[in-house]
Amino acid sequence: MVRIAVVGSLMMDLVVRAPRLPAVGESLIAHSFQAFIGGKGGNQATAAARLGADVAMIGRVGDDDFGHAILANLRNEGIDTSGVFADPAIGTGVAVPIVLDDGSNAIFAVPRANLALGVAGIECARAAIENADILMVQFEVGMSATEAAMRIARAAGRQVMLSPAPIAPHPPGLLGLADILLPNEVEAAALTPEAGGDHRREAEALLSRGPGVVVITLGEQGALVATPGQLTEVSAFPVMAVDSVGAGDAFCGAFAVALAEGATPLEAARFGAAAGACAVTRPGAAASLPSRSEVQRILQSG
Ligand code: ADP
Repeated sequence: MVRIAVVGSLMMDLVVRAPRLPAVGESLIAHSFQAFIGGKGGNQATAAARLGADVAMIGRVGDDDFGHAILANLRNEGIDTSGVFADPAIGTGVAVPIVLDDGSNAIFAVPRANLALGVAGIECARAAIENADILMVQFEVGMSATEAAMRIARAAGRQVMLSPAPIAPHPPGLLGLADILLPNEVEAAALTPEAGGDHRREAEALLSRGPGVVVITLGEQGALVATPGQLTEVSAFPVMAVDSVGAGDAFCGAFAVALAEGATPLEAARFGAAAGACAVTRPGAAASLPSRSEVQRILQSG
């Protein structure tokens, strides 16, 4: 069993389905409301655990109903939560994704306890990071915690995978602490404005900042996998999309598991694309993440 440590966010997603976004000053009647457990860190941890990895989660929730529900859910997925602190002073993070009829989404995020995760919280979880095959990080917790975790993993000779999501100010050189950089289309463009929206130039510019592998996910267009001297497009698997929330996290979790199991970056991206395709066929974030047999079925269909 491969071991994955995730340092990242834990949020409660309060999902509103609506025909369109409201205008400023408008009160718009939406179709429906549902609460889902989410947060990019928790989603990526859950994605990896469902695909068979031994996962340790490191993060921070509030000592409140949302936080307790999140912890119970992670444990139910078989994830080690000894690195998750329930903060008595700050509430659990919440996000409000607005999902439109065509499956696209726009999201408000209120990080709360996630931003209180700092270097001390990472030090408490040092052993889990040092013992993992891959450390996965994103940009939804305190940046000092993310950087500290990346440095611990690197010093221990572990692979570091960064999803720079959502895009956030970060110290110079941080991208160079990642072995694998996995932005989506929006994040890749924000990190490399000089590339003028050309994904190949974006990938090359990102490689020049230090990571050995760059994967830009492109929604229903699939993904672009870049290693020094090689750029390869990976097609998306054709599916009926109902909700794009969670696709990126499904891709990241699956990519990490496949890579830790010995796949090449290209094979791992195909596995990730199958997991992403699966996730868009179901509503919610964590709730839409596929099992291994579901991913295998999509891989065989393509
Ligand atoms: P994010 O959720 O971070 O914006 P993407 O939308 O790029 O990430 O989706 C991640 C991956 O999931 C894509 O690279 C693709 O392989 C898969 N995916 C996303 N949307 C679809 C879709 N409509 N049909 C098939 N696969 C999809």
